[in-house]
Amino acid sequence: MWCGRRPLSLSPEEKDWCSIYIQTFFSNTSTINFYSSNFNPKIFIEIVLKSKGCVQASSPLQGELEGVFSYLCDPMTKTKSVAFHTLGCKLNYSETSTISRLVEKEGFEKKEFDDLADVYVINTCSVTENADKECRQLVRRIQRKSPQSLVVITGCYAQLKPKEISEIPGVDLVLGAAEKFNIASHIKELSKGDSTKISSCEIEEVTGFNASYSINDRTRTFLKVQDGCDYTCSFCTIPQARGKSRSDTIANVVANAKAIAAGGSKEIVLTGVNLGDFGKGDLTPTLSKGEGVKNRSENFYELIQQLDEVEGIERYRISSIEPNLLTNEIIEFVSRSKKFMPHFHIPLQSGSNTILGAMRRRYKRELYAERVAYIKQLMPHCCIGVDVIVGFPGETDDLFKETFDFLHSLDISYLHVFTYSERDNTHALALKPVVPHAVRYERNKSLRNLSYMKMQYFTQKHAGEIRPVLFEGHSKNARLNESPGQEIMEGYTDNYIKITTPYRAEWVNEIVGWKI
Ligand code: SF4
Repeated sequence: MWCGRRPLSLSPEEKDWCSIYIQTFFSNTSTINFYSSNFNPKIFIEIVLKSKGCVQASSPLQGELEGVFSYLCDPMTKTKSVAFHTLGCKLNYSETSTISRLVEKEGFEKKEFDDLADVYVINTCSVTENADKECRQLVRRIQRKSPQSLVVITGCYAQLKPKEISEIPGVDLVLGAAEKFNIASHIKELSKGDSTKISSCEIEEVTGFNASYSINDRTRTFLKVQDGCDYTCSFCTIPQARGKSRSDTIANVVANAKAIAAGGSKEIVLTGVNLGDFGKGDLTPTLSKGEGVKNRSENFYELIQQLDEVEGIERYRISSIEPNLLTNEIIEFVSRSKKFMPHFHIPLQSGSNTILGAMRRRYKRELYAERVAYIKQLMPHCCIGVDVIVGFPGETDDLFKETFDFLHSLDISYLHVFTYSERDNTHALALKPVVPHAVRYERNKSLRNLSYMKMQYFTQKHAGEIRPVLFEGHSKNARLNESPGQEIMEGYTDNYIKITTPYRAEWVNEIVGWKI
């Protein structure tokens, strides 16, 4: 016998009278759906009581039945709560945010991840080995805190290694890329104690585009406009996890930007896997194998021009754009725009042409240097962030020095340094010689030091200038030892210099002229 969608643990006596009354009450069915709006435990108890000839409210049988029902029904009839945790990039954050709104629409209650919840959803990443480990640690944490809760794993790691994840003790459901946005219907079907389910398909079959945006606080929103990637960088598993390049339409993106503005957010960060490739793909037809279909005449340059016209949004940032897709017209447009901030994040990955070739990147360092020089020529105050990977196979001391010297020479503002980690099913796995982990660690440290110096230099260069700062709410990382008892707020200048100051309610979500 099943209660809702989980097996009942009834005593033989309970089973007897339940099955008798269920059969009479629910037209001879032995399955009772406690989710059903037709089911009312109170009425059910009344019928049982009447048939037993008990009419007094204080009947001992009534207490017995109510006790059984509170055990049977409580987890089923109360609103199920769902807590989310996101690992990885801004794209994942925007998707989690949209998925959680969809789940709420289906009647579930949203909880914080640190709270007790009936269901925990982890939206995973698989860019580095750490992301895999983090996912395992989170599942263990949930197991310790709330062993009865359901655990659902989705996201890139879930698409890449569904079997491996299903073997993590405590995981109840693994959802691949195609099912990520259908979490609500899956968790309605799910019961603790069932064997772990996997709902996944080959990535070639994942062709749809799900528009998403985050609404964590009112200040800044991550808006997903593109997904997937057609490049074949030798270290990267993202194309296997997210599929071919495909995008939203400009009309949809603009509509979402208007909705975000209506919600009060003033800043939008455009996100995607390969943003500069915007314009490929369609929302409905199945894409052919190979590259995403370019069946629209839209492109990223047109997108940013149209977004610039949306009223209510005062700031846009481009989360990251490949150097070979960052055209002069995009740079020129940003330099003229009042809304697109003087801030670019451009992945370099290596400053050695030998390593760039082995990585199968689509540019050489000379092109990268040209892009940086042109940006700085038009916008000397522009902030430029750089992704770089250290310890890629074949990166000798000399080749690493090439990267270090190249980055040192560039007029850039900060680095995001990644340590290369071996990923299954990538071409880089076959490349030799492998760089020892201790060397990778040292290289990471030296580039992080360089990044610190670059950021200091960039900030110093603008000291004394008055720049517009959009302040957010309370800072989660308030350094209370520097200002004990003082609430802190943070904001960013147009060119991405972080400002921290004592909290002032009237500045939240406001742009304030600030002397650096
Ligand atoms: S451009 Fe290269 S690194 Fe970036 S997602 Fe595509 S394959 Fe991965």
